[in-house]
Amino acid sequence: MSSPPLEYYSRSKGSGLPYGPCDFTEETVEKEVLPGRAGNYAIGYTTPMGGFVVKIIGGSDNDLQEKLLTELDTARKRGYDRFCFKYASSPKERFEHECLNYHSFQRQLDNKEHPQPPSGTELECPDTICARFFQSGRKLS
Ligand SMILES: [Zn+2]
Repeated sequence: MSSPPLEYYSRSKGSGLPYGPCDFTEETVEKEVLPGRAGNYAIGYTTPMGGFVVKIIGGSDNDLQEKLLTELDTARKRGYDRFCFKYASSPKERFEHECLNYHSFQRQLDNKEHPQPPSGTELECPDTICARFFQSGRKLS
């Protein structure tokens, strides 16, 4: 692929997380992220050039704010001080967006585990290569 270096994700680049980067602190999370909403997030740090480097991606189907707060300790220890997020209108939307973020930033992420489909669903990752190789393997097992 001839895309720009993944490290230099910017808000306009289709990662689809329109809010942020915000300071990743308890105060900001509680102020900026509404409680009880589903959504997706990316945690990382900003470079001197202004790019946002994604290191952790994730999501929640019940409470994005709470999930983000559980990431704070780890992120702080590693020096990640910014986050971006979006709300999701359904578990399916959350899952598919998390998959896309995962595959876009896979090589640089700290969390290497593939996103999980919402509990009780058989949703497939929208990434076609992943669906073919990873998920076909899952079904066989
Ligand atoms: Zn996938």
